[in-house]
Amino acid sequence: MIYTSNLGIPRIGANRELKFALEKYWKNQITAQALRETGAVIQKNNWILQKELGVDFIPSNDFSYYDHVLDTSILLGAIPNRFLNEPELKDLDLYFAMARGARSKAGQVLPAMEMTKWFNTNYHFLVPEINDNTRFKLDASKPLNAYRAARDLGIETRPVLLGPVTYLLLGKSEKEGFSPLSRLGDLLPLYSQLFGELAAAGAAWIQLDEPALCTDLDSSGNAAYLELFSYFSRISNRPKIMLASYFGDLTANAEVILRSPFEGLHIDLFNCLDPDPLLKRLDKKTTISLGVVDGRNVWKNDLGKSLGVLKTIQDRHAFNDLIIAPSCSMLHVPQDLELENNLPAEVAVWLAFARQKLGEIAELKKAASLDFTPTPAFADNRKIIQKRADSLHNNAGEDASFSLKRNSPFAVRKAIQKRKYNLPLLPATTIGSFPQTIEIRSLRSRLQKNEIDEAQYQAAIKAEIEKTIRFQEQIGLDVLVHGEFERNDMVQYFAEKLEGFAFTENGWVQSFGSRCVRPPIIYGNVNRPEPMTVDWAAYSQSLTQKPVKGMLTGPVTILQWSFVRDDQPRSQTCRQIAAAIRAEVADLEKAGIGIIQIDEPALREGLPLQKKGWEEYLKWAVECFQIASAGARDATQIHTHMCYAEFNDIIEAIGRMDADVISIEASRSKMDLLEAFEKYHYPNDIGPGVYDIHSPNVPEANEMVQLIHNALKVIPAGQLWINPDCGLKTRRWEEVIPSLENMIEAVNIVRAELNQ
Ligand code: GLN
Ligand code: ZN
Repeated sequence: MIYTSNLGIPRIGANRELKFALEKYWKNQITAQALRETGAVIQKNNWILQKELGVDFIPSNDFSYYDHVLDTSILLGAIPNRFLNEPELKDLDLYFAMARGARSKAGQVLPAMEMTKWFNTNYHFLVPEINDNTRFKLDASKPLNAYRAARDLGIETRPVLLGPVTYLLLGKSEKEGFSPLSRLGDLLPLYSQLFGELAAAGAAWIQLDEPALCTDLDSSGNAAYLELFSYFSRISNRPKIMLASYFGDLTANAEVILRSPFEGLHIDLFNCLDPDPLLKRLDKKTTISLGVVDGRNVWKNDLGKSLGVLKTIQDRHAFNDLIIAPSCSMLHVPQDLELENNLPAEVAVWLAFARQKLGEIAELKKAASLDFTPTPAFADNRKIIQKRADSLHNNAGEDASFSLKRNSPFAVRKAIQKRKYNLPLLPATTIGSFPQTIEIRSLRSRLQKNEIDEAQYQAAIKAEIEKTIRFQEQIGLDVLVHGEFERNDMVQYFAEKLEGFAFTENGWVQSFGSRCVRPPIIYGNVNRPEPMTVDWAAYSQSLTQKPVKGMLTGPVTILQWSFVRDDQPRSQTCRQIAAAIRAEVADLEKAGIGIIQIDEPALREGLPLQKKGWEEYLKWAVECFQIASAGARDATQIHTHMCYAEFNDIIEAIGRMDADVISIEASRSKMDLLEAFEKYHYPNDIGPGVYDIHSPNVPEANEMVQLIHNALKVIPAGQLWINPDCGLKTRRWEEVIPSLENMIEAVNIVRAELNQ
């Protein structure tokens, strides 16, 4: 038999109803009940939509008020003690306290759980805190209620649960050396009980998400899966289970997967290019779920090609039951293309959002059920796919070739730059942005609504830049910035000025909690019709004798935070963006800007899940940075910035980028990252952040002196820069002013020590 399924649907509502309800609830403007009603309506609409579109296996419990990993912590009772100690925190308030932090009854800060990116996506989850004394306890109400609510509508669903091994692998422990995975034995009976309760409620199937099966498992990860599989091979009182993993190639873990006692297996065919060796060894009775529609991107499916893939697999392996599915949950794509009115018509027909993708899956089922005979819809689809392939936008022509090396090696450049700028020891700078206040954001919306004109907008931004330049001069920073006030977002600002990008009005994707983003869509060749930042940079530099950095977003980051065309390798699209940035660097130089920062905060998150793909990725990612930066003259000082501290495993690639100065996150980890620099002698200049801008706390000068001392243990003074660890756009001026003053005080203290 041939079926269709969905692994998860966008959960913020077609018009971001959840976001608005959450934010009102947090401001005490609506009741918990009103919030829950919004959640119920979103779920109901999604179930009905999927039913109407003919989905056979409709997910439930894929909805979340904040995050599905946090839901799992509640499900399993993994609630950190700081929240358990506050008995008045209950239900939604406990849940949001874990997500967003709270205050204890005694007035102490209860920090939120840590947030980090979900595998290689831009979705963020709350990291489980698991210790040897975590008291797990099942609270099955959420999945049970969701299942029953759908059933009351006459809709049978397949509850989605995050599996225990991935859950623990994503967790962290405050105890050094304690592995959350060692608690697996305590979770298995809870899952068993949960499965039993769902079976009793009527669920025939469960979707058990174990995306860690698509990562490199070490021996303890392997052992954990074997324990899971052997445990449930002995338990019969449970629904059938669809074991789902995605974002990587599960065949790397084939030996483990073949031990699964579960009835179904889902394969993400966008990340597993040769499933045959695994499929060959599976029992024909396995219900095989094939992810042939991309759940991570926005392009129309090539139905003919997908049908071919399905047919080949069925011809070779003849599974009794086959499910046609998206590659992963559709959490990562916008809800509905029908809501867009302003996309270029030519581009709009190339696209499919969640709702359209479900239509594609239904069409594939129709054809597959007719002995794999294309339906009439396939011909229309073929025309569109062909038109896209023939489109002028895609006609790349010859790839230009660029020198990837600066004129002279770093040491030579450094001497030239030293003569030019004569910066003091431990030069002090910032990462680029200054507070994006409500006033500044409202300037942009007033401009959009024609309440002010372009000249008024520009004048207001210029005034803000001037104020910021004066402030930096006054406190004694050495390399200034203009503050990035004119930018709505560090990627969108550039995307809007480049050709080849389209923008949705309503293409929201959840990033975390109530926060949604609208990634630009790269549909064609990227070109830079005119300079993007030069006027602002030149204006800013004209205000001061001190150097002002030109600020650019790097090619990998622009790529990574957009929906990327799938008709050519990502590396090729990235090279086109890199060429545009290179041209911008040249124009900045011509305008007299001598220091240029090219931010690459997303470089690391582009790493494939499995190490086997790292080398290739790092090769082209570094090359793109080189394309963007290496055309600069020796006297031009190229900076880059990355806001994370995990460098151990990519430090050599970072070295190859050959930026004159790199600034990185370090203060939260108390300069732990410097370990990487102990082992690998980083040749160029480096500024490990001394001020944690993610916290509203104002750092004291002596704390920062301490951090600088730590840094000096592994980085020679002549190579060390002093800066915060990220941009200041999310902070308020009241925090930024004293913090930067203290930072300069700290620099001066250490300079005095070094000069003794
Ligand atoms: N230049 C950017 C800023 O200061 C960098 C932001 C980032 O690293 N994410 O905001
Ligand atoms: Zn940053």
